[in-house]
Amino acid sequence: MNKVALPTPEQLVRKTFARFTDEEIIPKAREMDEAEEFPRWMFEKIARTGAYGIRYPRSVGGAGGTTTQFCIMVEEIARGSMSVAAFTAMQCLMGTNFIFEYGTPEHHERLLKPAIRGEKVACFALTEADAATDLGGVKTTAVRDGDNWVINGSKTWITNAPVADFFTVLCQTDKTKGLKGLNFFLIERGTPGLYISKKFDKLGTRATEISELAFTDVRIPFENRLGKEGQGVGNLMRILAVIRTMTAALSIGLARAAFDHSKRYAMERTQFKQRIGSFQLIQQKIANMATDIWAAELMTYKTAEMIDQGQRALKEASMSKYFASEVACRCADEATRIFGAYSYSMEYDVQRFYRDCRFLLFGGGTSEILQTIISRECGVF
Ligand SMILES: Cc1cc2nc3c(=O)[nH]c(=O)nc-3n(C[C@H](O)[C@H](O)[C@H](O)COP(=O)(O)OP(=O)(O)OC[C@H]3O[C@@H](n4cnc5c(N)ncnc54)[C@H](O)[C@@H]3O)c2cc1C
Repeated sequence: MNKVALPTPEQLVRKTFARFTDEEIIPKAREMDEAEEFPRWMFEKIARTGAYGIRYPRSVGGAGGTTTQFCIMVEEIARGSMSVAAFTAMQCLMGTNFIFEYGTPEHHERLLKPAIRGEKVACFALTEADAATDLGGVKTTAVRDGDNWVINGSKTWITNAPVADFFTVLCQTDKTKGLKGLNFFLIERGTPGLYISKKFDKLGTRATEISELAFTDVRIPFENRLGKEGQGVGNLMRILAVIRTMTAALSIGLARAAFDHSKRYAMERTQFKQRIGSFQLIQQKIANMATDIWAAELMTYKTAEMIDQGQRALKEASMSKYFASEVACRCADEATRIFGAYSYSMEYDVQRFYRDCRFLLFGGGTSEILQTIISRECGVF
């Protein structure tokens, strides 16, 4: 008897989010980019797919999925819109992870579960004016005062800050301890002393909103420290490989979009009475893009598999993020050359890929710091 091969959960995630992206995101991607606003209607539409709980267990309303499934999902969404993929990734991972891991049952009921349902927006604040790649420079302080913590300082470049309901914020509790004095704290919107600046005017991912946060004597309950004293950076390191692999998957999504548009255009546009795709120099670009994307896919999904098997995979995740984000930028660049002048028109999507790909170079570690980490992991430092 012939056996019917059932689709794997990974294939189902791919199919579901490929269709969602084609039908719901791509037709609206330019409109969302031009509006330069957080598209709450799209945020809620994505919530209805169950996306925000993909990597959390059913006990908190999630789907109990793997890192591989999470990466496939954000890759497909990024193929449609990097802005939508960025806020989806924030909601699934950085913005909610520390509350899931270290929050109280009350935090889970009041914040995490509604966030997974798309009723509350999450956000993650590490970066400061003078502390970006070097988190050792974080100056925002959290000082114990009886049953409270009192937070003072500021953060910058915080995705979702203008629209977020709660913030996971990295603060220093003991300056003498450097990185070991850093801890994460949960701060809710509306807490007295929390100020949110007006949103930044920026080059890409324009359907995300980014701003600064300032904290002046912000008083929060003692249980809002997320994790044990001094373990903030250690706890961040535990999900760093997932953050980097996820960013590599976002990069593949954008690279595929640039490739698909280039391929179509190369077969349609004629010059010298021929399709431009018949010119060897255009074929070379298509071949290099396809090769780069395949290599990035192999690296990224092998790393996701290693993470799912419980391996540390920090070197592999750093390599995947470094390589895939550079691939996204190379593909976006090649696409603008293939489209020629039309890549310069706001009526074509290629300009959006070219602007949005730059975002991939920063989050999860810049290419420069990742190269330093990879070299160190190889034993050269
Ligand atoms: C669109 C966008 C969204 C963001 N969202 C968030 C967010 O939600 N939350 C958040 O906390 N942050 C966010 N950030 C900030 C982001 O995490 C930082 O941009 C990133 O940490 C890099 O910091 P920086 O850009 O200030 O560069 P810097 O750290 O100032 O580095 C400047 C340059 O020096 C290089 N460099 C630094 N140190 C070294 C070194 N040791 N060796 C070699 N080269 C080095 C860097 O690679 C870079 O080329 C966002 C940024 C952007 C652009």
